Amino acid sequence: MLSGPTLLPTGNISETTLFIEQGIIARIAPGLDASADIIAQGCIAPGFIELQINGAYGADFTNDGRAVASVAQRLPETGVTSLLPTIITSPWEAYPTRLSEVREAMRSATGAQIIGVYLEGPFLNPIKKGAHNEAFLRVPNVDEALRWADDSLTRIVTLAPELPGALEAIHALHGKGLVVSAGHSDATFDQATQGFEAGITWGTHLFNAMSGLVHREPGLPGALLSASVPCGLIADGIHVHPAMVKLAFKAKGAQGITLVTDAMAAMGMSPGRYQLSDREVVVDETSARLADGTLAGSILTMDQAVRNVIEFTGCSLAEALTMATATPARVLGLDRKGRIAPGYDADLVILDESLRVERTIVAGKSVYERKA
Ligand SMILES: [Zn+2]
Repeated sequence: MLSGPTLLPTGNISETTLFIEQGIIARIAPGLDASADIIAQGCIAPGFIELQINGAYGADFTNDGRAVASVAQRLPETGVTSLLPTIITSPWEAYPTRLSEVREAMRSATGAQIIGVYLEGPFLNPIKKGAHNEAFLRVPNVDEALRWADDSLTRIVTLAPELPGALEAIHALHGKGLVVSAGHSDATFDQATQGFEAGITWGTHLFNAMSGLVHREPGLPGALLSASVPCGLIADGIHVHPAMVKLAFKAKGAQGITLVTDAMAAMGMSPGRYQLSDREVVVDETSARLADGTLAGSILTMDQAVRNVIEFTGCSLAEALTMATATPARVLGLDRKGRIAPGYDADLVILDESLRVERTIVAGKSVYERKA
């Protein structure tokens, strides 16, 4: 039994007692119960759902899919209870190996739950490649795309909707139940809109590695901001200026933005040199970059993203938490995660008054408790 101020599906944070049975939230009752096993002072929130993470704690998933297990074990330190490990653009023949490595990691992992895989690339626009290796980029092909995106494991794929053959690929992948996301794209507003009509239901890290937001040609960001398609946002204050984070929040609201870290191997580590796929990345106190200055993932954590988005936008705690919980759950179509309600998985994070992670619970079990 847990008791304390709780984020409820209504968006209110009010004193509540949660009864957990067999990993599930069995019942919730209004008011505090002094006899609860855990009494929270700060806030009980649904566990964070991380949709885009390339690695952390020294490990890079694109180089070693098995590393997902050790990272999943530590991510509850940051409030994450579910993650979608991201494999960035890789040599075509490397995908089956990476996917089977992640599948193996899923079997042994403890800590945060690995809920599938996110394939970012290879059907990206070379003009907006970011830190992806251009040599491995491909032009979309329906048959190829369907064979590549093993739909028993893959949940999200990113592609650039303006590429030849992209609309057919989007339609086919969406038809198989995958979330198709627009990103690493130079799409015009019209091309992006056609992509949405073909089945795109998410946008990959709004503003980063996409066409610019210009008043006569709003591009992909303008299309994402003005449509009902939710999008990921890296709120580290470096990938996107805090004022643009605020603007995005004003346009999309908490239902339209999923906080993502896009973290890479250096997250949770000291500055130095790290790998992202086959690229060498130089990491300082705040950012991760290729030698030419291109951002190559982040060192952001989800709990920091929640604190940052409040600071950047002035949104409420409930809104910030929604962007890390209910909205990513909706993007993936998860109907038992992202909310504190009867019948939902007991994936919870307890934050203290300064919104630092105090305890993380996955399927009713404490998997992280901060040392006093
Ligand atoms: Zn990216």
